[in-house]
Amino acid sequence: MSDEIKRTALVTGASSGIGRACALELAKEGFQLVINYYPVPPCEAEAKETVKEIEGLGQKAIAIGCDVTDSNAVNEMVDQAVRELGRIDVLVNNAGITRDGLLIRMSDEDWEKVVNTNFNSVFYVTRPVAKVMMKQRSGNIINMASITGVYGNAGQANYASTKAGVIGFTKTIAKELASRGIVANAIAPGFIKTPMTEKLDTAKIEANIPLGRLGSPEDIADVVKFLSRPNLYITGQVIGVDGGLVI
Ligand code: NAP
Repeated sequence: MSDEIKRTALVTGASSGIGRACALELAKEGFQLVINYYPVPPCEAEAKETVKEIEGLGQKAIAIGCDVTDSNAVNEMVDQAVRELGRIDVLVNNAGITRDGLLIRMSDEDWEKVVNTNFNSVFYVTRPVAKVMMKQRSGNIINMASITGVYGNAGQANYASTKAGVIGFTKTIAKELASRGIVANAIAPGFIKTPMTEKLDTAKIEANIPLGRLGSPEDIADVVKFLSRPNLYITGQVIGVDGGLVI
């Protein structure tokens, strides 16, 4: 493949954790990368560091600071990505947050913040990217859901609802976009060692995981790599990556 049509991936929330590992894995596979990060100084520095690492792997990468809950800013990000890198072959909707609490004590703010960040953003980012992929007549969309979106989890009514929504959205767009050569799948991680889970009592959790350990961001990145293949004959699926936690 010549440089002009080099495969390109956009990963949201790619300055840390799972998103960063996915970006690095895709770079190793030969992708150019758009590293989306939350536009605040610590994330900007981490995103720039990730870009440097990708360049060290011999691939082009750009970092774009953009709050994925801002629909207009997202449209501008996608325009910039296409202007600078020419195309988008893979989208990883990864940005996400938690604001845990029991239902009866959950504030409107914590509900809305999680819904905006984990769910509305997936719509805002996928809509303009799907237009780009439709013109290309190919594309792979990968949405980061969670086992909580399938099984629920006490204390996470907001988070689990958004992840269930992401699964419904994934299955729907898989049907809608298939005729244009676009596949859409979701990943449902269990417990993965990242800043999101660093405050949890991991010893207690590990005791319930058949494979006996929390997953690593690289365990997720490995599946993202697989779901990014051209001409993939898998769409509308939810792939559990949880060490057997919910067998
Ligand atoms: P993480 O390290 O906190 O990464 C999430 C990333 O999203 C951060 O870089 C974060 O930036 C970014 N982000 C948050 N809000 C954003 C916004 N409005 N615009 C752009 N970026 C934003 O957590 P992670 O564990 O890697 O999580 C990645 C995804 O996996 C999430 O969707 C999460 O729900 C899902 N997941 C994780 C686990 C797990 O066990 N870790 C399990 C199931 C699913 P800031 O650092 O500034 O917040």
